[in-house]
Amino acid sequence: MTDTQLIENISRIYRRISEAAVRAGRKAEDIKLIAVTKTVGLQQIQEAVGAGLRIFGESKVQEAREKIQDSRCKMQDAVIQWHLIGHLQKNKAKTAVELFDIIHSVDSLDLAEAIGRHAEKIGKIQKILLQVKLSDEISKYGILNDNLSESIKEISEMENLSIKGLMAIPPFFENPENARPYFSELRTLRDTAETMGFNLPELSMGMTDDFEVAIEEGATMVRIGTAIFGKRKYCHKEAQ
Ligand SMILES: *Cc1c(COP(=O)(O)O)cnc(C)c1O
Repeated sequence: MTDTQLIENISRIYRRISEAAVRAGRKAEDIKLIAVTKTVGLQQIQEAVGAGLRIFGESKVQEAREKIQDSRCKMQDAVIQWHLIGHLQKNKAKTAVELFDIIHSVDSLDLAEAIGRHAEKIGKIQKILLQVKLSDEISKYGILNDNLSESIKEISEMENLSIKGLMAIPPFFENPENARPYFSELRTLRDTAETMGFNLPELSMGMTDDFEVAIEEGATMVRIGTAIFGKRKYCHKEAQ
């Protein structure tokens, strides 16, 4: 993809974000764009930084590690945040804590404990989001909505973790309107938890195909890959 195309894509996304925000009576600056860079090379990421993007999302620790380390050498000036948005295995929690500013995909108490343990070892307060498996959802990962308040309570007592909010990945629909009930359910779960005294400002929801609906339903972080970098090219078969 050319530089010009990338810049066009990014400005189009910002415009769509702000239009969706206006429709919902919200402020565009309350919505953070997480540019999803899985399968995207460092050069393209550098161009995206040049175009003004500062928050990048990766779904695999392994793939992210090289890019993050390289970016630390090559882009020392820009303050870049890296977010982990894909499923995290416990045995990679240590590396994840070393690399990521926020881990969106905390989907079990065990994983939260592992992250907390490694964060303690390096004196870090790790920011996390809890990934929720919504009603009728068939996704593999996520804390069941029934168990959510209990999980929030237990995880919020873990010393080196700071829960910033909730994340979900609704199923894909041709018509993004069909994703709306999922987004609204996540917001309701957050609101309920807040009435119990937890502070959960962030809602990470919405991707290329449905981010505007997610914003209308309260998303504060949208995770967008394809609409910025184009269709992903996988060189070998792997899960998306
Ligand atoms: C790949 C991915 C995205 C971005 O998907 P696009 O449809 O390319 O915008 C967002 N969230 C998660 C968890 C992903 O794995």
